[in-house]
Amino acid sequence: MVVLGGGDTGMDCVRSAIRLGAGKVTCAYRRDEASMPGSAREVGNAREEGVRFLFNRQPLAIETDADNRVTGVRVVETTLGEPDTRGRRNAVAIEGSESVIEADVVVIAFGFSPEVPEWMSALGIEGTPNGRIVAGGGDRLPYQTSHPRVFAGGDAVRGADLMVTTAVAEGRDAAQSIAELLAVQVQPATPAAA
Ligand SMILES: Cc1cc2nc3c(=O)[nH]c(=O)nc-3n(C[C@H](O)[C@H](O)[C@H](O)COP(=O)(O)OP(=O)(O)OC[C@H]3O[C@@H](n4cnc5c(N)ncnc54)[C@H](O)[C@@H]3O)c2cc1C
Repeated sequence: MVVLGGGDTGMDCVRSAIRLGAGKVTCAYRRDEASMPGSAREVGNAREEGVRFLFNRQPLAIETDADNRVTGVRVVETTLGEPDTRGRRNAVAIEGSESVIEADVVVIAFGFSPEVPEWMSALGIEGTPNGRIVAGGGDRLPYQTSHPRVFAGGDAVRGADLMVTTAVAEGRDAAQSIAELLAVQVQPATPAAA
């Protein structure tokens, strides 16, 4: 199995693959090890579990056989060039260095970006240019969007973030705002109901 991408999602994928019994798991990342966005501890854990890392490999194509089954990933070796607008050095392909990493399963773990759903845009709900929903601020209740009866929180508002510390807490706080809008008295949560 080949996992493309060197972030935390990539590390979840490689380690899950090992647990699910994959015979050989390779993580291919387009920059060098020092540039990996994933946590160094997770990379170390993955290595301990037998994951092989190939750095400076930019994927070009998924290779398939006549039955359209995956046979590998065509990659080109890279070197680090000039920094981009965010200060990260670009991966520059080295001409003539293409090769194929054999695989029968390929997982693309390049991360994700939020997108304001069409139905929200149709309701005139304000979003940011990079696809996040705008919530709270100004005269609004916390987590209230530009539509007074629609509330939002979590990754759709913040971009990729964390589950318990942000998404769950924001869900509960947004519910509090909704109760306030509806003038509903909220009972404090008991441990059993929490
Ligand atoms: C691979 C991976 C590993 C992660 N590991 C961790 C970790 O170890 N610890 C941690 O704290 N966080 C982790 N996270 C982040 C965490 O999962 C997110 O921050 C969290 O799930 C965000 O919660 P959310 O409710 O905002 O969004 P989501 O969990 O994405 O929930 C949104 C829900 O809305 C549903 N939905 C979308 N559109 C509609 C629609 N039109 N109608 C109805 N339903 C709809 C979706 O199907 C989804 O169920 C990880 C994320 C990924 C991708």
